[in-house]
Amino acid sequence: MEDGKLIKAKATGVYLDAARPYEKKLGDALFRWFLLYRMSLGIDFIVWNNEKSTPTGTIRKYHATKNTRSGRHEDHLHIEFRSQTGDRDHSDVLKIVIGEVGVALGEPLPPNL
Ligand SMILES: [Zn+2]
Repeated sequence: MEDGKLIKAKATGVYLDAARPYEKKLGDALFRWFLLYRMSLGIDFIVWNNEKSTPTGTIRKYHATKNTRSGRHEDHLHIEFRSQTGDRDHSDVLKIVIGEVGVALGEPLPPNL
């Protein structure tokens, strides 16, 4: 980050309930694949179900500031984007991620999505 330059943070919440097996599996798959493609998608970090990604792409325990389901991110996958790369058109990479998540869930999507 350049000194003195205002950087706007941008985040997306994908509302999934980690207490429900299918939604947990979907959230886990999204976490894994978004993490793998974080550089090209302009993702700064991801928080899901008491875990947070690190800048090197590993996952560590997340210590919530608010001890609620939302604070612990048990009810949403939180994706934080870097302000500049996050603004680009990422549709090609997103198609890969969606395809891989479909495979992880045993539900491949149509190839021409
Ligand atoms: Zn959040």
